[in-house]
Amino acid sequence: MARIKLYDGTRTPQAGLVLKRALQELANFQRVEVSPSPGAVDVQGFNFVQGAVARVGRRGRVHLGDFLTYIHGLPELRNQPERVVIVEPDLFADGLNWCFGGHTKHAGTDYVVLSTKRVRDYTHLFHLFAHELGHMYGAAPPGRRNTIELLGSHCVNNNCVMQQQVTIEDSVLYAHARARSGAPVYCGQCQVDLRRYSKGHE
Ligand SMILES: [Zn+2]
Ligand SMILES: [Zn+2]
Repeated sequence: MARIKLYDGTRTPQAGLVLKRALQELANFQRVEVSPSPGAVDVQGFNFVQGAVARVGRRGRVHLGDFLTYIHGLPELRNQPERVVIVEPDLFADGLNWCFGGHTKHAGTDYVVLSTKRVRDYTHLFHLFAHELGHMYGAAPPGRRNTIELLGSHCVNNNCVMQQQVTIEDSVLYAHARARSGAPVYCGQCQVDLRRYSKGHE
């Protein structure tokens, strides 16, 4: 079962509403509870993210590792369910000029952090959320036949949201082609992965 605490640091409800759609997709494979409701006004969550960004930001950009280290250390975040954090500023990491964000695990808790800065449109944003949530809930795990190790383990099946694209342009094109194809968001193998993970975490 997915029990997600959301921290939405964006100024409009749009990113939250797209996240809601991605969570509805995930709900085909396991029970999902998320609070506060994505897209709803959440001043506390917004202020939390703004505070963290102000603390670790460097000239308007945020180092993903620094950001995670900061939020991992906050006592109010301990012993909570999985967390999804949405930020507006650009993210970067060691060896990467920028990144959309990613999925990490710390002290038994899963995090998805996503920046909306370089997201092209809602189709693209949906793709990124569905992909990161897939990582969080067991899709395309390391060692599954038919995955490749490329910044983590990814699915190689066509039109599966768990494929990895390296450039922004490829990621946008793939998201749109995938959406147009009408294919299921997660391929058959990734669906099996999600169900299996769900059974092990009830
Ligand atoms: Zn990935
Ligand atoms: Zn797949």
